[in-house]
Amino acid sequence: MSLAPNRGIGMTSQRTRDRMVARLRECGVSDELVLEAMRDVPRHLFVDEALASRAYEDSALPIGFEQTISQPLTVARMVEVARDGRELGRVLEVGTGCGYGAAVLARIAKEVYSIERIAPLLERARANLRALRIGNLRLAHGDGNRGLSEAAPFDAIIVAAAAPRVPRALQEQLAHGGRLVIPVGTASQELTLIERTASGLRETRLAAVRFVPLRMGKG
Ligand code: SAH
Repeated sequence: MSLAPNRGIGMTSQRTRDRMVARLRECGVSDELVLEAMRDVPRHLFVDEALASRAYEDSALPIGFEQTISQPLTVARMVEVARDGRELGRVLEVGTGCGYGAAVLARIAKEVYSIERIAPLLERARANLRALRIGNLRLAHGDGNRGLSEAAPFDAIIVAAAAPRVPRALQEQLAHGGRLVIPVGTASQELTLIERTASGLRETRLAAVRFVPLRMGKG
């Protein structure tokens, strides 16, 4: 991966990323594959240049269109829960945003699909991702509430926006043994895990979280 020289130094260097990974570890993230992916993906390339020096702080940052890039710890935890130590084949992300989460997932799963409802944001994600030359990631413009039936079933589905209730299509598009990680709720939200087991769907509430809302329809 080649970075423009002025973007590979200082607050955006590999050392800064190593420190971010050390903090993730302190916060309890232990999946080495997830930590390695987060060490590799240059998060500063996914935010506005004016914010690049803050890219490795553990905070959400604005990406335009009233949306945010998720906090690194949130991304790490969601992927860790979705993976659960398994090898992931096909994975769906709902809410591409700037493309950061998709880039992390693409280092972990064989095949990644990511869907975004705001077309200009999807174009920005495409531009951000181009430099990384990721071959196993497909981006789609559409309403993530409906999932992506043409690519289903998925071993894991990660939703990066909070839904009032779990969209039925996403449950239906889970493979056997598949795991869906989704923030559920409006005023207060809970990160929720839905697993498709031999005896049906099992739901577990994981933690209180705060996400932008999952909207209906295309933007
Ligand atoms: N994955 C991103 C997080 C983006 S924030 C990251 O790595 O930073 C959540 C995104 O979900 C926003 O871009 C928002 O536009 C998108 N979103 C909201 N409702 C959606 C829907 N119904 N379908 C697809 N994307 C949606």
